[in-house]
Parts: sequence; structure tokens; C-alpha cells
Amino acid sequence: MKKHNKIILTFLALILLLIGCSKYDRPETKKASVSETTESITTEETTSEKTESEKTESEKTKKTTAVAATKEIKPKHLEKLEVHFLDVGQGDSILIKNHDYNMLIDGGSQDQSSYNYLQDQNIDFLDYVIATHPHEDHIGGLIEIVENIKIGTIIMPNVTHTSETFDHFLTSVAFSGAKVLQPAVGDIYNLGDASFTIIAPISDSYEDLNNYSIALKLNHGNNSFLFTGDIEVISESEIINSNQDITADVLKVAHHGSNTGTTDQFIKAVTPSYAIISCAKDNSYGYPNLEVLQRLRDNNIDIYRTDLQKSIIASSDGKSISFNQNPNNELMAGTLPTTEAIQTVTTQAPLSVEPQATSATTIEQITQTVVPTSVPPTTALATEAPTTQSAVAPYIGNANTGKFHHSNCSSVDQMNPNNKVPIFDRNTAIDQGYVPCKRCNP
Ligand SMILES: [Zn+2]
Ligand SMILES: [Zn+2]
Repeated sequence: MKKHNKIILTFLALILLLIGCSKYDRPETKKASVSETTESITTEETTSEKTESEKTESEKTKKTTAVAATKEIKPKHLEKLEVHFLDVGQGDSILIKNHDYNMLIDGGSQDQSSYNYLQDQNIDFLDYVIATHPHEDHIGGLIEIVENIKIGTIIMPNVTHTSETFDHFLTSVAFSGAKVLQPAVGDIYNLGDASFTIIAPISDSYEDLNNYSIALKLNHGNNSFLFTGDIEVISESEIINSNQDITADVLKVAHHGSNTGTTDQFIKAVTPSYAIISCAKDNSYGYPNLEVLQRLRDNNIDIYRTDLQKSIIASSDGKSISFNQNPNNELMAGTLPTTEAIQTVTTQAPLSVEPQATSATTIEQITQTVVPTSVPPTTALATEAPTTQSAVAPYIGNANTGKFHHSNCSSVDQMNPNNKVPIFDRNTAIDQGYVPCKRCNP
């Protein structure tokens, strides 16, 4: 009997050993380990997502208990981290690479997806994809990527948007097999030797879709990067008031350098040494805004711009950060693609025009502005006008309604300043899709 038991026990032990092996000795491909973690999370107790992602990490490196949420900084050698701010025309797309770990924040627009760039970089797996918010210039290009590249986890905010592009994106995500998570402020995820923390959105609902943008801080050794999507003043204020550690060496300037954000207060809270602006040359919004450039410069920040410098690559060794090119700190604001006149006006305008008055994008204003978020940014008309320009323009367009007026039309007085677009030429206005006001008949 005893002998018999012993044989059974040995047999059982062998089986257990085999099961154990099959569970942990999977081929070390990232795909396998991520999907395995995804499966296990459904059966295991509901741990927080950060614990889960750490598990992925710890399984790959050493089998430490995935408890500590903070990244353990290895005193020895850190794998190089590269942050590629891609030139995707008018939009955002940022590729982050560390060893063989990859992450993408937004994918540009459908017209200018960063998919080709990812292919050139031989990216066949993305550990994380962040779809900051549902605007076309951020998620449009993600469609091709989600459909063609394997993805571990997609993080996107809890907000819907009625647009064909967003519907298409959601369908692609549903078929991708990727795990989909909503951002929770404070959650920390590991990416190789780096880690990132979700810092926004903080509230559940906003009037403007841009404020739903996921903002995150990426840490690599002593270096840090802050990515802000298209957040505006409201979200910036919430982030500041939340007392999170948002200091960073590199700031991805919010909303393509629009004056809807990047307040002096926010800049001083982040204290970056470098700022990256992602926008198209001659974009129809006039990004980046002159006052934003001025504020960055006043804070002694080196500026890099995809509209003037194409894709920008920052490299971190954990101690210092280097760039693949020199900064461009010129005060060259984006110009509305109307006439040369605008450019003249912009460059002639005094650079320090009453900072308080001109950078008057206050929270009150923002709350009054119900921006038609259903209009995809690529087709939308300019949403803001440098105030220095509006005084001399014979016509004023309304970015919200798509109408244009004589500058002395009574409608102009009632218009939200953020929607005012100076127009110097009637034909250009018509070409841009503006409709003449029926009251003033411009
Ligand atoms: Zn955008
Ligand atoms: Zn947006």
C-alpha cells in the first residue's frame, strides 16, 4: 500500500511539475507573455491593472512579487529609451522604445498615420497604445495600426464621440484582441526599464473632448517626459491642484501649441527643459500660437517642432537626454493659410502684447465655449485666432458656426473670442468653406 501511494505521489508530482513548466516556460515572446497575463487576470482575483502590468514585467525579468507600484531604479545599466515625436502633419503620434518594449501614444490622422514609420522601425508588437482622446488627428491613424500590428493593451478614456472615424477605430479595437483599459489617475505601468503614470483625466466629464485626453508621465532613470494630448486649461488646472508630481524634463506641449492650454502656471509646475510641439506646417488653426511660444521661451525652454523639423527623437540613458537635432526657438507662430498679410501682421505684432490680456484663455471662457467636438479637427475651421490679428482683418470668421462677417457686424461682438478667425480675403474665406453672414453680407 505504502509503496503504491509513493508511486502515485511521484506521478502526481511529475504532472504538477509539467503543468508548472507549461505555465511559465512559454517561449519568451512578448505576445505570449502578454496574452497569458490577460487571460490570467480574468481568472485570478481582481487585482488592479497596474499590478497586472507589473506582473508582465516581473515575469519577464525576475520573479519578484509585483507589489511595489513605484519603479525600481536599477543602479546599473539602463537600456536606452527613445521617444520619437513623429511628423504626422496635423496631429500627434509618439513612439516610445526601450529595448524591445514599445509603446505608442496616438497614431496621427487617417491621412497621415504613423503606421509606415512603425513598419520602418520593425515594430511588430506594441505593449501599450494610448488613444489619448477620440479626435481624428489622434485616433484616425491608429486604425491602420490596430488592424496590422499586435497590441498588448490599449488605454483610452471613457468617452464616446459621434464620428465615423471613431466608430471605425472602436470596431478595429474590438477585433484586435488587445486588452482595453480605461485610465485611472495614479496607475503605474512598466515599459522595460521605464514606467509611466497616468495623471489625467481627473474628472468624469468635460464639455470639451480635448480635456478627456489621457496625460501621462514617463520615467526613465532620472529622466522624465510629460505627455498631455490635447488637454486645455481646465485639465491643466485639475492636474496642478491634484498635487501629483508632474515635473518633467520634456513636455509634449498640449493641443499642438494652441493657446487653449500651456499656461504659465502649468509650465512652471512642470519645469521642463525641452518642449515638443506636434503640428503641421501651415495648418488651418494657426498652431502653434505665438503666445504659447513666448511663454515657453520666457521659461528658458528649448523648443522642438514637427512642423519645422519633421520627426524629433529624444534619447535617454537614464541620466541625460539628447536629441537628434538642435532646438528651434524662433518665435515663429503658425500662420493661417489665408494670405501673406496674416504673416506680416503676425510678425509685426509686438511679441509681448499684454500677456495677461492676450493669453486670456481662462477657465470661464473655456466653460462658455461649447466646441463642436463632432467636427473632426481636419475639417474644422480654425478654432482660435491670435488676438493681435483680429483688429486689422476686414472679415471675421466664426470657427464654431462656419460663417464669416464684416468685422463691424454686430454678430462679431457677440462671438466668443476663441472662435474668432481673422480673414483678410473674401475668396479665401469662401475657399475655406466659410458661408457669408446673411445680416452683414460680406
Ligand atoms: Zn489634436
Ligand atoms: Zn483634440
